[in-house]
Amino acid sequence: MNVATSIDRFRVLRAALPSPVGFVPTMGYLHDGHLSLVRRARCECEATVASVFVNPAQFGPTEDLASYPRDLDRDVEQLSAAGTDLVLAPPPEALYPAGYDTWVTVERLTERLEGGERPTHFRGVTTVVAKLFNLVRPERAYFGQKDAQQALVVSRLIGDLDFDVELVVCPTVREPDGLAMSSRNAYLSSVERKAAGVLYRCLQRVEGMYRNGERDAERLRDAMKAILEGEPRACPAYVSVADAKDLTELKTVDRKALVSLAVRIGRTRLIDNTVLPPGEALL
Ligand code: AMP
Repeated sequence: MNVATSIDRFRVLRAALPSPVGFVPTMGYLHDGHLSLVRRARCECEATVASVFVNPAQFGPTEDLASYPRDLDRDVEQLSAAGTDLVLAPPPEALYPAGYDTWVTVERLTERLEGGERPTHFRGVTTVVAKLFNLVRPERAYFGQKDAQQALVVSRLIGDLDFDVELVVCPTVREPDGLAMSSRNAYLSSVERKAAGVLYRCLQRVEGMYRNGERDAERLRDAMKAILEGEPRACPAYVSVADAKDLTELKTVDRKALVSLAVRIGRTRLIDNTVLPPGEALL
């Protein structure tokens, strides 16, 4: 496995890879969720490229860019063991040199949920993903359903800007108690870690109610709010039952829905989601 930290070196190594190339973009501090994407890419493609880049453009001014966990040596070891062929791990100035001035924006879909709370977040995501697609030129790109709105936004980016890339959305990998794996879980103290199980309990409750015939979206949102109120360490940012295509809030779950929530546990902001009917693919 090769690791390129400069764009020039990356281009040389990329040119030697066989097609199709599968690409897994990450911000590093890898866990089994990330590695599940690498393994899937490896199964489906001739070559697998991963990027490790904590993208400053997708963090707001008061967010955790400086403290975001980083461990490139461990990431490289894990990527190599999972069968990655080439890693791009550039410093921030390689992608955003002085004078950088070009931004890619997906409208509407990015105004809700995560975008409602983090107004510049998706502009940073779509800009870096567009840049990475241009550098890596993958046939397939692997994203996690964990960040469902991100996957929808990237799907829109690919369609609207005619990227010749197939988007593959992979299932959320969870800890034994259901907590979605996330690099940010490293911030949680042991009591907070226990409290964080509340997100998955909300999703399970909604799935159970749906299976029992509940289709009133407000009742599903209320059920999540009630569970969150029972966990004193949980401070909800939003709970949503939305149309899975355009993310507008539903009154009645009469089409595919994305159930999602964002919750602060202490100083850590966690997100999770599920699709209704349960087991349906997001895209
Ligand atoms: P990140 O490093 O957080 O930017 O995540 C990189 C990619 O890994 C994104 O496509 C995420 O959706 C995906 N990912 C993160 N956590 C998980 C998880 N628990 N299960 C599946 N995919 C994940």
